Amino acid sequence: MNRYSVAMQTQQQQNNTKHSQPHVDSWYAASADLNLAFPPLQGETTADVCIIGGGYTGLSAAIHLRERGYSVVLLEANKVGWGASGRNGGHVGMGQRADQDKLEAMLGMEHAQALWKIAVEAVDTVTDLIERFDISCELKQGNLHVATRAGENTELQAHAEHLNKVYNYHKIRYAMPAEVAELTSGQGFHGATVDTGCKHLHPLKYAQGLALAASSLGASIHEQSRVLSYTEGSAVRVKTAGGEVKAKYLVLACNGYLEKLEPRAAGRIMPINNFMLATEPLSEHLARQLIRDDTSMSDTLFVINYWKLSADNRLLFGGGENYTKRFPADIKNFVRKYMLHIYPELRDTRIDYGWGGTLAVTMNRMPDFGRLSSQVFYAHGYSGHGVPIATMAGKLLAEAISGTAERFDVMARVPTPPFPGGTLLRWPGLVAGMLFYSLRDRLG
Ligand SMILES: Cc1cc2nc3c(=O)[nH]c(=O)nc-3n(C[C@H](O)[C@H](O)[C@H](O)COP(=O)(O)OP(=O)(O)OC[C@H]3O[C@@H](n4cnc5c(N)ncnc54)[C@H](O)[C@@H]3O)c2cc1C
Repeated sequence: MNRYSVAMQTQQQQNNTKHSQPHVDSWYAASADLNLAFPPLQGETTADVCIIGGGYTGLSAAIHLRERGYSVVLLEANKVGWGASGRNGGHVGMGQRADQDKLEAMLGMEHAQALWKIAVEAVDTVTDLIERFDISCELKQGNLHVATRAGENTELQAHAEHLNKVYNYHKIRYAMPAEVAELTSGQGFHGATVDTGCKHLHPLKYAQGLALAASSLGASIHEQSRVLSYTEGSAVRVKTAGGEVKAKYLVLACNGYLEKLEPRAAGRIMPINNFMLATEPLSEHLARQLIRDDTSMSDTLFVINYWKLSADNRLLFGGGENYTKRFPADIKNFVRKYMLHIYPELRDTRIDYGWGGTLAVTMNRMPDFGRLSSQVFYAHGYSGHGVPIATMAGKLLAEAISGTAERFDVMARVPTPPFPGGTLLRWPGLVAGMLFYSLRDRLG
């Protein structure tokens, strides 16, 4: 097999969604339970709610709907946690993806306050589910968000003070560059915020734990059950190659993998690819040098770098994006350059895994919640902040379906501006915009 065909095979393994796929070859898959399996849908069945997608959105919706007494069938094209939910950085960030001052300017103080409350509850909901269902997913606490440009330190300080004063949130504080140098050996930082309200975890173990929780509550989960189409009528009819679900309600929880299944919703988001690596296990001494307090870390670049240590002291580092249908052939080296920029001391460290995943972004980086009819609900476009917010989306979808839509509508009322060029031409506009900002990152 030549280099090209190896690269193509890897590409297909990681990104091809036409046929049912195993988990991507990541450190997460290597350290999770690969024996966990749910049977494909066969034949006809009925449920109150059919959910398409076995990531955090769909799995959390299944749990919360079951807890409200609804019968649930969840259809996943591949494996639960196969999508972004099993491949991400594992950062459970505090707040919405957009900063509160931006939300205040965009939506007014009352709406911004309601969004903040939902975001705080999102982190609490992740913790609560982990505790209640005894999910073993290496949950830890704290994030250090570092300024990469001189001048950004004042913005970070103002951000922390704003949350302290206006939102009465005191788990965040500003740290001066001298203190940051004690917390990490990372290079090129100009101050940071330390937020002890943030958490981090093993994302695939968390997704699998949610699936087991939903199943234990009586949700029927089917893997290898790609939905080919659905129709609306007196009931929603959802078709896979092997069967059909007849349901009162449908939840679309496919995020960056929605593709052509529902163009009306897919046109509101843009799928982009993001990449990660895992180093070999590091010595305890080196691990503490990189991140003294075992928090997660992230930076202020537009194409954000984010990293944390695994339970066995590997550095799990995310950096770099692309906006095409293909992943880079050599993901390890694609991400390694971003890591070495921050930690040159890892020059000789072996990279054991490199992988990518597809997430959905929106123009204003706020998620897109909504209804296509009285039967069809969706939530997606978390723009890199889905560990807490997709989990919360599941809870809010369950509330909305059971007739209490106030909090779902707090999210749904955030406008989702269309991409320049509309659905058909959104790629060129987005790519030009993204490349402009990533160039700005590199030029400093
Ligand atoms: C590399 C990377 C790093 C990230 N890091 C972070 C982070 O540190 N913190 C954070 O908060 N967020 C992060 N994110 C984003 C986060 O992972 C997502 O927002 C979140 O996982 C979205 O969950 P979801 O359930 O909506 O979608 P997904 O987890 O993508 O699940 C969608 C599922 O739908 C299934 N599906 C699609 N179409 C069909 C169909 N027709 N029939 C049946 N099933 C279908 C797919 O197979 C998939 O499993 C990251 C994302 C990536 C890719």
